[in-house]
Amino acid sequence: MTATQSRRSFLKSSAIVLGVTASGLVHATEKKKFDETYDVIVVGSGVSGTIAAIAAAEKGSKVLLIEKMSRLGGTSRISGLNFACVGSPLQKKKGVQDSPEKLASDMYKVSGNMGDYQKALVMAQNTARAEKFMTDRGVEWDGRLLKLGGHSEPRVLVSKGDGAGLLNALWKHMKGLKNLEVRTHTKADEVILDDKGRAIGLVVKENYYFDTPERDDLHNKTGEVKTIYARQGIIFATGGYARDKAFRSSEVPFLAGVATTTNPGATAGSLKTLVKAGAQPMHLSLFRFAYPLPTEDMIWGVIIDPATGKRFMSEGSTRNALAQTVLLQRMQNGDQKPFILYDEKSLAKFHNLNRVQRSLNGLNGIDGTLVKYKTVEEAAKAFGADPVLVKKTVDEYNKQIASGKDEEFGKPLERSGRKVEPLDTSNGVYAMPVNPRLNYTPGGIRTDLKARAISLETGEPISGLYVVGEASGGLHGQERMTGCSMPECAVFGMIAGETVAEEPRR
Ligand SMILES: Cc1cc2nc3c(=O)[nH]c(=O)nc-3n(C[C@H](O)[C@H](O)[C@H](O)COP(=O)(O)OP(=O)(O)OC[C@H]3O[C@@H](n4cnc5c(N)ncnc54)[C@H](O)[C@@H]3O)c2cc1C
Repeated sequence: MTATQSRRSFLKSSAIVLGVTASGLVHATEKKKFDETYDVIVVGSGVSGTIAAIAAAEKGSKVLLIEKMSRLGGTSRISGLNFACVGSPLQKKKGVQDSPEKLASDMYKVSGNMGDYQKALVMAQNTARAEKFMTDRGVEWDGRLLKLGGHSEPRVLVSKGDGAGLLNALWKHMKGLKNLEVRTHTKADEVILDDKGRAIGLVVKENYYFDTPERDDLHNKTGEVKTIYARQGIIFATGGYARDKAFRSSEVPFLAGVATTTNPGATAGSLKTLVKAGAQPMHLSLFRFAYPLPTEDMIWGVIIDPATGKRFMSEGSTRNALAQTVLLQRMQNGDQKPFILYDEKSLAKFHNLNRVQRSLNGLNGIDGTLVKYKTVEEAAKAFGADPVLVKKTVDEYNKQIASGKDEEFGKPLERSGRKVEPLDTSNGVYAMPVNPRLNYTPGGIRTDLKARAISLETGEPISGLYVVGEASGGLHGQERMTGCSMPECAVFGMIAGETVAEEPRR
């Protein structure tokens, strides 16, 4: 029997044992045929799932939060979770004149006309409420109010201890909620629908041990199969699929070999489960790159191909354009990583000096270390480039910048009120590789403004099924603005939790 046949026969038999009536209702006694019953099941323990579970539990629902990995937190735990928020106490204190419309417009401007303005507006309108939700439950902010790339106002908050600090505070709070149970090593494999198409439960594997991103969804048979009934609804908060090389490269072949810093469990398995349940996937061919240092601070330096010793692009390009040009260059130069050179003055222009310091101290992960060299030539040699050619490139670059125009690549010579200046190498240079990483997948399941999954067939919400956070698609379009996944996760996690808890118990 094939996997599909066995799934069909399982669903058929569960419909029989559950005694789904002609009207689609499930009798209370027949519900006992499921192994367990909860009001709400939340799948995934990143920031969106954690907030959804808390919101539903605090409204009185009996909640089960399941996580396939051995530890909680997904990508959220290793993320900065910088949080774009309109109307935060910090913005008020500093007298920043911001509005939800401004944030939604900023997001739309970079989306290549593919973002969802209406949804971005709902998100922005609820960011202050989400900030209060988290603060009231123990999250602390470090006092910074950042104006990051693409944002027209200073609005980005940073939690103490980054993503891990934020989640630790919420998990501490969660422990006090007696009607919220958490299970790791538990993977959702199927959504069970009744004959009206309502999502009524899950097939899960318990005592399941994650294998590798390559082998897990298709080959991992660990764990015991169980069925769990959800009286009010199911929320998928299962994150993105940046680790799934086979899936991401089936959409965009050049993504096959790129690095990612996401959670190893960020595979496309849950997306496929939701599509099987009838949900509409969207924007699966889009991608988002990041670098160990902020993209917007590349502009202060000079990026050089070690194979030619020359520049090959404007360092002021957008994050995805930058990544694509770098990756194309690598395809043509025998896969040698380009490197970026800075002087002391340009490092001081970075908007986040902590990250610079971490890079200087070697604490910014693979390819994230900034090394100081006495001369340009010395740096060139360290990256396998011809020192004479690189020195010539830097001198030529300096001449052009001093003349007020980047003749070669048209780099803008100002950003956020700060000027791009020639590199002063008299005190040495700082260098690091430029290695773009796929750190976010904008594609996912289409949802409405209440985070309900939309049916591919009918265009209407699938009753009882919600999708939040990176697992949903369509909000950001071609370029997700920095600091804007976190508000999406927090706001729609909160809305889904509140909404599902209002549903009648069936
Ligand atoms: C290095 C890095 C830095 C970042 N910095 C920022 C930032 O500063 N600001 C910002 O806005 N965004 C940032 N992002 C993006 C942001 O962190 C993520 O988009 C966000 O954390 C996703 O949260 P989530 O709750 O949707 O998913 P996740 O946090 O990935 O959680 C999903 C969870 O679901 C689990 N899961 C998946 N499938 C199943 C299944 N079938 N059964 C059970 N469990 C399952 C996974 O194991 C995982 O634990 C960053 C990303 C990276 C990689």
